[in-house]
Amino acid sequence: MSLEKEINKRKTFGIIAHPDAGKTTLTEKLLLFGGAIQEAGAVKSNKIKKGATSDFMEIERQRGISVATSVLAFEYKGKKINILDTPGHKDFAEDTFRTLTAVDSAIVVIDVAKGVEEQTIKLVEVCRMRKIPMLVFINKMDREGKDAFDLMDEVEQKLDLKVTPLSWPIGIGATFKGIYNIWEKNINIFSGDNKQKISETTKIEDLANPELDDLIGTNYAENLRNEIDLIDGVYPEFDMQEYMDGNLQPVFFGSALNNFGVRELLDAFVDIAPTPQSKETDLREIEPYENKFSGFVFKIHANMDPKHRDRLAFIKIVSGKFERNKNYFHVRQGKNMKFPAPNAFFADKKEVIDESYAGDIVGLHDTGNFRIGDTLTEGEKFTFKGIPAFSPEHFRYINNADPMKAKQLEKGIDQLMDEGVAQLFTLEMNNRKIIGTVGALQYEVIQYRLEHEYSAKATYEPFAVHKACWVEVEDENTEEFKEFKRVKQRYLARDKFNQLVFLADSAFTIQMTQDKFPSVKLHFVSEF
Ligand code: GDP
Repeated sequence: MSLEKEINKRKTFGIIAHPDAGKTTLTEKLLLFGGAIQEAGAVKSNKIKKGATSDFMEIERQRGISVATSVLAFEYKGKKINILDTPGHKDFAEDTFRTLTAVDSAIVVIDVAKGVEEQTIKLVEVCRMRKIPMLVFINKMDREGKDAFDLMDEVEQKLDLKVTPLSWPIGIGATFKGIYNIWEKNINIFSGDNKQKISETTKIEDLANPELDDLIGTNYAENLRNEIDLIDGVYPEFDMQEYMDGNLQPVFFGSALNNFGVRELLDAFVDIAPTPQSKETDLREIEPYENKFSGFVFKIHANMDPKHRDRLAFIKIVSGKFERNKNYFHVRQGKNMKFPAPNAFFADKKEVIDESYAGDIVGLHDTGNFRIGDTLTEGEKFTFKGIPAFSPEHFRYINNADPMKAKQLEKGIDQLMDEGVAQLFTLEMNNRKIIGTVGALQYEVIQYRLEHEYSAKATYEPFAVHKACWVEVEDENTEEFKEFKRVKQRYLARDKFNQLVFLADSAFTIQMTQDKFPSVKLHFVSEF
């Protein structure tokens, strides 16, 4: 098969949702359709459960699952579909942000009763900013919930999206009858007991057809006719380009648990979701069909066996074909590397493969060469953009609690930061190290892993920081910049890439600093 054909078969996406909306359940049903798994319950939830075990042990458990669910691939209607796992827990939001740099589209799952929730808002915002095409799936229609029109309004307002329904529910909860597939113009009747089966659909070309009354009863039929009329008047018609540009989001209704409405979603996804997209670098835009391979690291996973420090680096292939044992260029390190045992991912296993194509994810065994954001090419020196660090929410000094193990501590911190567990800032003034995290949980994880994987002991000390601000100046030699550095010296640090960061203790400080030093620009993300 030609390179172009292989690449055009691929659809790589992520499911984003607030915890409990039904991401795991939906993933599982999609895999069932693809024949990739045989039964329900095969996909483990990567959720952080609160309960008997302490939080960091729970994270270790979750880490085990998340190796297995990082990428779930299956074939459906001649397409190769790669689902990238995205943790819903807020303490892992940064993981999810990074994974979203590797998807070509997203499906947003919303609970019909709960509506738009906090994590959904944050994750959709990231997709919206990056113009990632999104489909919306309103889940749990078998339960009592919000009115479909109200929910559409809520999605538009809270998520700042422009929506158009491609399926529409008939009743809800106890009276849920099924859905009308606007995309294919047919009706799917809900029986509630066909959990694992693919339900039958009835073709209804014209809603005026009295057959509809026989099918769902006159009241429901009349209601559906009225609602579809209203939809035609209120919502824009689906437009492929608008969807691809991230300006229009089609909405589907269903019940993942009952495997209802999932086929409609998947069929439309296969029809409309984008194939691998081009990506910006510091040099030029890279097209997927270029003959030469290129890709970037969006995730690093430490091996679960603490005695072996090898890791798995996840590479999104942006262009061309990746081949086993071929020499590739690690741009940041300026050296060639080859990979004798690259992994490809399937729904239920990972396997060593000989080749993989743009759109796919390969897992490369790594002994510490990779860092999130690294670029691999066939020799050309460019670096992919759009894999920024975001300002952490929590900041603490990290101290060495065992002077005999200073080297181990340093190595441990270094590698954990490469993995993206947290961010390290080194104060310019005295070289003290500060760890910034998205959630407080990560501090326990870091301490635990330093001890178990690196035999190093660390303690923390509070450091009051509101936000990390990446500093941008056009000219470092101005009096204003020198003055800024003098006044703020106690709060200036370097990140892992040696970029200058101002650790501001309050929103007020940021405002004051901007007013006083207008030529010094402060950013909450590392790429600007
Ligand atoms: P995640 O946290 O988003 O991965 O959510 P899960 O897939 O683990 O689902 C959370 C809970 O909602 C589980 O108890 C599911 O069985 C349940 N659930 C998922 N989909 C549906 C649905 O369509 N209807 C009902 N009634 N429950 C559902």
